[in-house]
Amino acid sequence: MRAFPVKLPSGQRYWTVLDDRLAVVPEADVFLQHVRFGRDQAELTTKAYAGAVALYLRWCARTGRDWRTAASDLSLFITWLRYASTELTGISPPPTGTAMVMTGPGRRSARGGARIENVLVGVRGFLCHAVRTEAVPSAVLSQLYELADDRDLPLEAKGGRERMAYRLRAQHRVSVPRSRRDRAQDEEVLALLRACRLSRDRFIVLLLARAGLRRGEGAGLRREDMHFMPDSTPLGCRVAGSHVHVVRRANANGAWAKSVRQRWVPVDWLVVQAYDQYVMERLSFPHGEHSDFALINLLRGHLGGPMSPDAITELIERLGQRAGVARAVTAHMLRHGFASNVGDSGGTVDEIAVLLGHGQISSSEPYLHPAQRRIREAVERVPSPVDTWGGQP
Ligand SMILES: [Zn+2]
Repeated sequence: MRAFPVKLPSGQRYWTVLDDRLAVVPEADVFLQHVRFGRDQAELTTKAYAGAVALYLRWCARTGRDWRTAASDLSLFITWLRYASTELTGISPPPTGTAMVMTGPGRRSARGGARIENVLVGVRGFLCHAVRTEAVPSAVLSQLYELADDRDLPLEAKGGRERMAYRLRAQHRVSVPRSRRDRAQDEEVLALLRACRLSRDRFIVLLLARAGLRRGEGAGLRREDMHFMPDSTPLGCRVAGSHVHVVRRANANGAWAKSVRQRWVPVDWLVVQAYDQYVMERLSFPHGEHSDFALINLLRGHLGGPMSPDAITELIERLGQRAGVARAVTAHMLRHGFASNVGDSGGTVDEIAVLLGHGQISSSEPYLHPAQRRIREAVERVPSPVDTWGGQP
């Protein structure tokens, strides 16, 4: 069992699951097509789901279970995910006679809680879909979910209903230590910039760190999305000042702007200058001219073709290593750094939500990492009682 990318004649792509004889697993394929085209999710989402379903089916096959009814043993699946080494859970089956002994307190888990929870989300989605298409008995639902009432929920979460109602709660939960994703510090961004060997790479770092784009949004940018002149009215755009448009399209490189709504993000002269240098650099490559995509492969991968979101991830990783940055700085941490810098320089949450392309202000909250200076100032701004009351009781 393995996840496998499929490209349709229309150019659209999604991931499916193949069995050990490399035949498509029909039930998994129907589900993944539904996710991609019925629910309009990104190709990367189907990749994650396909990976989860492949793991589940592999576990069923190797432990002699029927996947249609194995949900009753889902807690054993969780143990398998947590403790079985990658040789046991990997694509090629373990050599016959390998005892499946694992676990033992103190043994390092093979997968963390967050990873396991993501697998469970995929498996639940797969089995629920199979219940709807009547491929598995509906009793499986009660093995996946427990019925709970909503008395413990705050009124806001009940949508203002005062009457008690029932909701489904996943039976199997894995506790995930909530580590907040950290922001990239400015000195780390500077180190990344200094480690760049291509103008293109400097432009990418600045797009993430000074315009807050997601890596997928960066990979999906077309040249026509850059409105880097003070006045774009000749192009039919009425946004004043330099800016970049983030547009949702289905792209051949798997890039996908996550927000449904399109947005424009103002950019400063650093970004504009870096882009100009990159355009010159790109022209000096024989394969640099033709693509409409803003970010293309210059030295590795399919030359002249659009960079994939994964290529951006790898680039940032490589720059961090070359720069000798002490911890791993990711593309997403650059986006966090952007949002925090806007906040630290007086930007408000509604502004940050618009800049990040969030539909709801609450989505922007995890992106706020106020600087120490600002937290101190918040306290120091409160006037001293001596000043307010003049020492009177
Ligand atoms: Zn514009």
